[in-house]
Amino acid sequence: MNAQAENPIQGPGTALADWQASTSLAGVMPITHSELVPAGQRLVIVAPHPDDEVLGCAGILAGMKGREADVLMIAVTDGEASHPGSRIWTRSRLRQQRPEESARALALLGLAVDETHWRRLRLPDTAVAGREDELVGRLLELIRPGDRVVSTWQLDGHCDHEATGRAVVFAAAQKKACLVEVPVWAWHWAQPNDLRIPWHRARKLLLGDQLLALKRVAVNAHVSQVTADDQSPAVLTRENLDRLLQPFELVFV
Ligand SMILES: [Zn+2]
Repeated sequence: MNAQAENPIQGPGTALADWQASTSLAGVMPITHSELVPAGQRLVIVAPHPDDEVLGCAGILAGMKGREADVLMIAVTDGEASHPGSRIWTRSRLRQQRPEESARALALLGLAVDETHWRRLRLPDTAVAGREDELVGRLLELIRPGDRVVSTWQLDGHCDHEATGRAVVFAAAQKKACLVEVPVWAWHWAQPNDLRIPWHRARKLLLGDQLLALKRVAVNAHVSQVTADDQSPAVLTRENLDRLLQPFELVFV
């Protein structure tokens, strides 16, 4: 998840303690994995950057263990723009590294999802909006009727997350697939009882202790994002990780 200067993603963001005191969040009803991805249905995850799939829906993914034949991962970008100007994490290195981190994270979640389950679209990181029509075209080729399609919320506050979200909303409707949107950056900029959040569509997929621990390990597989380089702190700060490693995943259905 790559921050952009023009996005509302500044400073440390809303503290975990404030989210924990949110009455709106406390009132969100749970949803089970089998309700999200019923037996016999395919799960299609459309991730703007290599890490969004684990940050936003590691629990949904982990629940597909044994059902890997029904998983399709669509990586919109290779995440090459996460470290502008870095001498260590150059764009060419990130293009190689970040997809490998994604694959490793899924293996750590216990999923046998090899390259045959991935479609890497290699659209330009931070510039997906300029290629949105092309993205819609690719999604229309890949999504089938009845699929459960999970992607970043179309109002998530990051340009790539929103462009991907919009494209998925359109393509899923065209293909009569079932849409699930996931907030990632909204945890940073939204307020605890924020009226911009579609609370009426929100559900919680509860993660037990074991699954939450597994998610933490999978997130940490994104070494380029969780470690500082010689010029800047980690992309995924402690505050980001606190918010994204709560004992549930929030989805908009
Ligand atoms: Zn992202």
